[in-house]
Order: sequence, then C-alpha cells, then structure tokens
Amino acid sequence: MTLDITTFFNVINNELTTTVATRHGINPATRQPNPEVPLSTAEDLDRAVAAGRQAFKKWSRTSYEERRKALSAFADAMEENKDVLAQLLTQEQGKPLTQAAFELQAAITWARTLPTLTLPEDVIEDKEDCKIIHRYTPIGVGGAIVPWNFPVHLAVGKIVPAVYTGNTIIVKPSPFTPYCDLKLGELAARCFPPGVVQVLSGGDDLGPMMTEHPGVDKISFTGSSATGRRVMASCAKSLKRVTLELGGNDPAIFCDDVDIDAVIPKAGMLSFMCSSQICMMIKRMYVHEKIYDEFRDKLVEHVKNFKMGAGTEEGVFLGPVQNSMQFGKAQNLMGSIATEGLNPALGGSIPDSEGYFIPATIVDNPAETSRVVQEEAFAPILPLLKWSDEDDVIARANKTESGLGASVWSNDLDRARRMADQLEAGNVWVNAHCEVTPMTPFGGHKASGIGCEWGVKGLTGWCNSQTLWVKKP
Ligand code: NAD
Repeated sequence: MTLDITTFFNVINNELTTTVATRHGINPATRQPNPEVPLSTAEDLDRAVAAGRQAFKKWSRTSYEERRKALSAFADAMEENKDVLAQLLTQEQGKPLTQAAFELQAAITWARTLPTLTLPEDVIEDKEDCKIIHRYTPIGVGGAIVPWNFPVHLAVGKIVPAVYTGNTIIVKPSPFTPYCDLKLGELAARCFPPGVVQVLSGGDDLGPMMTEHPGVDKISFTGSSATGRRVMASCAKSLKRVTLELGGNDPAIFCDDVDIDAVIPKAGMLSFMCSSQICMMIKRMYVHEKIYDEFRDKLVEHVKNFKMGAGTEEGVFLGPVQNSMQFGKAQNLMGSIATEGLNPALGGSIPDSEGYFIPATIVDNPAETSRVVQEEAFAPILPLLKWSDEDDVIARANKTESGLGASVWSNDLDRARRMADQLEAGNVWVNAHCEVTPMTPFGGHKASGIGCEWGVKGLTGWCNSQTLWVKKP
C-alpha cells in the first residue's frame, strides 16, 4: 500500500490521530510552509505511554524470531515507499534527492542488518548445586528524541534496536522535520502490534515532557551537547536510562605523504555533504605545511564546482541549511570571518536568496582560537589549518570538549596508526571519515555523548543487565 504524503497524523496504539491545534514545518529551499502536523499535548503523550506499557507486557515476551519477522516487514514497507519518502525528506529537510535516497537506503540497511545480531547469554557458573547466567532483558518503554539533520536514519536507528530487544518505543521527531517520521509511524503500524512503535509530533515542549514522564523508562537522544545536558538532568530525576549522541567538532589530519589528487574529492565530500549538517563529518581540517598551499588550492577548485540549489534540482550537491535558527547561527559565524580578520579562500559571505542557502566557505589557516575552529558550525564553513609537528597537531585536534570522530590520512599506515591511537574520539578512522555500519557501535567521548548505539554494544544499551541464579534443591 503506498503512502499518502499530504496529510499527517500521530500514530498512537496503531491509530492515526490528530490534535486540536496543529503546526507546520518550513521547506528550507523556499521558506514556504509544509503541511500541518499534530501538536501533541501531555494527554496525547499519556495515551501513548499507556499504550506502550500495555504493549510491552506481550512484546517483551515475544521471541527474537517473531521480532525479526516484524522488522523485516518494516524494512520491506520502507523499501516499497523509499522514493516517495526520499521526496518528502527533501521537501522537509532540504538535502538533495540523491542524499535523501541515500539516507532512506541506510535506514533500510539498518532495519535489515541489526536484527541479524544476537545478544550474548553467558553461563558464568554451572555447578552441581547452582547455575548462574548473565543475560540482557528489555527495559520497557523507550523515548526516541530525534534531530532534524537525519530524521529518517536516526529514527530508524533507534526504533530497530529498541523493538528488536523487546522494548516498545515512542518517537519524537524534531519540530523542524516531523514529516517522514510520522510516515514511518504509519508504516510501523502495519508491521507491529498496537503500542509497539508510536510517533508523536509536537512543539518544543514535547521533548521535556517525555524526559520528565514517569512512564518512560529510557531516553535515546540525538542532538546538541547543550540539549543533551538538559536531557540528562531531567532523566536523573526518575533515574531513566539514557543514551546521548551529541555534537562533534571532528578534526581530520592530513600528513605530507598523501596523494593529494586522490584525497581531495573525499575531503570535499566529507566536509560539505548535507551542507555540513552531519554530526561526525570533517569540521576542522589540519593539513601538513609541506603540502598546505597545493592542498588548499586544489580543495578550493574542487569545492567551487559543488552546485548549490534546491534539493529537487538535478545535480545539486549543496542544499539549503535546514531551518531559520541554523541559518541565523551560520550567518553569525560567517560574520566572525570579517570581525576576526580571517581570510576566506572560498566563499565568506551569504547572498540573498529564496531559501536558507549558505555558499561553501573555506577559511585559510585561521587562528586556532577563532570561532570557526572552536565552534561546531553545522553549516558549510570549513577551517583549513596548517601543521608541522605531530605532537602539536594531535594536541590541537584533542583540545576540544567534543570527541565524536577524528581521522588521520597518510600512506604510511604505521605513522597513521601511531597518530590515530592518540586521538580522543569515539570513532577514529585512518584514510576515511564519517563511516558507519549497523554492526559497529557508534558513540562519542567527552561532551559528544554517553553510551552508544548500534552493534551488539548498542543493543545492550536498550537492555537491563540481569544475573539469574538458579540454586538446585
Ligand atoms: P537539538 O539538541 O536542538 O534538538 C534535538 C532534539 O531534541 C529535537 O527533537 C528537539 O525537539 C529536542 N529537544 C530540544 N530541547 C529538548 C529538551 N529540553 N528536552 C528534550 N528534548 C529536547 O539538536 P538539533 O539542532 O536538532 O541537531 C543538531 C545537533 O545534533 C548538532 O550538534 C549535531 O552534531 C548533533 N547530532 C549528533 C548526532 C550523533 O549521533 N552524535 C547525530 C546527529 C546530530
């Protein structure tokens, strides 16, 4: 059955419901309103929590095989509707259609792959009089709080591990991008029993309502470090389990022995894809002084050719940034280039346009203390920095409260490993950046997060640890 993408509902207990008051998002390419969506109240959340708690009683006792079947149907439903969802994703998020299709495909891959993992059940002791087993049991009702940069992949990346491990889940999309997530809820309603997967759209007050709610047992939050702190403080009151996937300011260190022509296309894409609105992409680029000038000139030449425009236009690589708040932040940061006397090698200003468009900007060797280096831009403003001493560049790379991702690029793998081993981040790549799979745990160090998602380790984050003692009479 195909999806209608013109009307939008909450999904509570597998029923499509609406609310008295509604709200809407904005198409960032045109600044025109998108359709109305529900504006959930505390009562809507109460109903969803009650349904989630009721469903948990049965769902937590279903077999992994049964859950795999439901998840496989969910993956099939996304696959059948991937074109229309990609179109909707571009309309609400702004990213080019090709990148929207890529996000849908990632979500489908996560839904198909995570359920192939198995959680360990260890026999710790098996003696004549006693058997001790350690195992993982589901937690209860989960709350998924999702950001606006990857609304589909990050929602599915929470739904799948939660329900696969026997939990029920209530998804709260970002108010900026509720559309695809509401449709995911409709697809889920066709695949799971009532109350297992629910989606509520709301305003800024719905997230705090969820973190405060006594009937929610775990929060899986993806968003900024500032909000993450608030989420953790709120969850502390009821000792909710919490996983936090937060912001990053990833360094990438390019050594003097790299093949410049081969790495430039990757460096460009990994810094500017999704208009640089990815948590774990290159946000500070350190290039060895011996190759700096050639590297900068070639990177500028390459990035200059990225076509900017509405995500629906053929060949566009840089869509608009997602919302007015992000656009305002980027305008402010762009302004610091002039006020701090920095030198843009590309871009550096924002022309008037219909949408929230920010031209790709590369800042030529700014001071380490400048705002463009210290702050997570989350917009296409990249500082390119010179380095000469290995210890010094590692210290600069680590000198941030973030620790999400980091990379070293070199043809000498021993050197690269030596440097990579000193980087303080949850994800460290050699000759790559921004790579993830459903099988690999993903999380941040320092202010980039607590806990991780995906892989077996991520599945355990959706579980309680339980030790079972069986004494034989
Ligand atoms: P945000 O923190 O503003 O919002 C994230 C979500 O939290 C939204 O759904 C929002 O409605 C909700 N929210 C806001 N205040 C809340 C509160 N007090 N209590 C509960 N929920 C609340 O983040 P954003 O602007 O949507 O996303 C951008 C940020 O997310 C960037 O910093 C980026 O690096 C980070 N991010 C991290 C990852 C990761 O996996 N580590 C992935 C994507 C984005």
